[in-house]
Amino acid sequence: MTHNSLVRALFISILALLLTACGPEDSANTNATTIDNNKTYNWKMVTTWPPGFPVLQEGAERFAKNIQAMSNGRLNIKVYAGGELIPALQTFDAVSQGTVEMGHGSAYYWAGKVPEAQFFSTVPFGMTARGMNAWLYSGGGLDLWREVYKPFHVIPFPLGNTGVQMGGWFNKEINSLADIKGLKMRIPGLGGKVFAKAGGNPVLLAGSEVYTALERNTIDATEWIGPFHDQRLGLYRAAQHYYYPGWHEPGSVLELTINERAWDSLPADLQAIISNAAMAENLRLFSEMEEKNLSALQELKDRPGVQLHRFPDDVLAKLKTLTDETLAEEAANDPKFKRVYDAYQAFRKKDDAWTDISEKAYLAMEK
Ligand code: CA
Repeated sequence: MTHNSLVRALFISILALLLTACGPEDSANTNATTIDNNKTYNWKMVTTWPPGFPVLQEGAERFAKNIQAMSNGRLNIKVYAGGELIPALQTFDAVSQGTVEMGHGSAYYWAGKVPEAQFFSTVPFGMTARGMNAWLYSGGGLDLWREVYKPFHVIPFPLGNTGVQMGGWFNKEINSLADIKGLKMRIPGLGGKVFAKAGGNPVLLAGSEVYTALERNTIDATEWIGPFHDQRLGLYRAAQHYYYPGWHEPGSVLELTINERAWDSLPADLQAIISNAAMAENLRLFSEMEEKNLSALQELKDRPGVQLHRFPDDVLAKLKTLTDETLAEEAANDPKFKRVYDAYQAFRKKDDAWTDISEKAYLAMEK
C-alpha cells in the first residue's frame, strides 16, 4: 500500500468510526443472530460505462478496490462494465431485483421508470457539483433520493460528478435561435426536450454511434461530456465549432446503487466502510475529471481548426425560459415529479442567492 492510500484508508476508517451514527446505517439490522461479523462477502457491481471507460469506469473499480483494502478482504466487489454481465441500461433493474448487489451509473438513465430521478443527476440550468453536494449531503437531498428509490429496494449514494459539461460540437456557428431551427443534434433527456421546444431536432444515439453520425453529417451537432472525453472520442475531427457552457448538464451526479436486502445483510462496519468510501470516491472522481478537462481543453484549443465559442446570450436566455416551462409542465402532470422539483427548486433558490455573492461574484472579479 502506498503512503497516500494508507493515509486515505486511515482517514476513512476514522471517518467511518465517527459516522456510524448517521445515514442509512442507522436502519442496519444489527441483530447478532443474523449478522456474522467474520463472514466474507463476494459482491457484484455492474456499471453503465463501456469497459475501461476512463475516469468513470476507473472510478467504480477504484472504489471496489478501496473497499476490499479497508475491509481487509471481507467485502470483495467484482466490477463489470456495461454489457459484460448485463446490458448497461439494465443496471438499475439488476440492483433492484437483487441480480447484483451494486450498480454505478447516473439517475437520469432511469427517467423512463422514475422521471423525478433526473433531479438527482442533473437538470438543464440546474445546480453545479458544488450545489448538488451541498443539497445531497447537507440539505436533505440524499434523504429524498432514498425515499424515491425505496419502492425499488435500491439505496443510492453520490459517487462522482462530471462537472459542468460542454455545450457540444456543431458543424456550423450558432449566432441566433434561427440557427437552431431544424438542427439535428444528439442531446438526450430533458435537455433534448428543451432543444425540441427551441425548434431543434433532438436525436437519440448511443455513445458508440455519436462520432460516425457527426462525421457523416447524419447529425449536425452532438454533446458528449467535457473536453477530456470529447477529445478522446475524436469529435474535433467531425465538427469544428465547440460551444460552451453545457446548459443542459451543469454537473451530472454519478450514483452508486445498492440492493436494500444486500445492504441489510452487512455488519455495521462494512456499511460504514461503503458509505465513507463512496463519499471519498465522489470527491476523487470529480477532482480527476476536473484535472483531465482543464488539460484537454488546452490541447483542443491548440488543435488547428477547433473554434471555441460561447452560446449567444439570447440563445441561452431562451433555452432557460423553455427549461422552466418544461420542468413546470412535467411537475403539473406528475405529483411525484413535483415533490422532488419543489424540494430542488427551494434549495436551488437559496443556493443561487448565496453563490451570486460568493463563488459567482468572486470568479467574475478581475484577477
Ligand atoms: Ca452529456
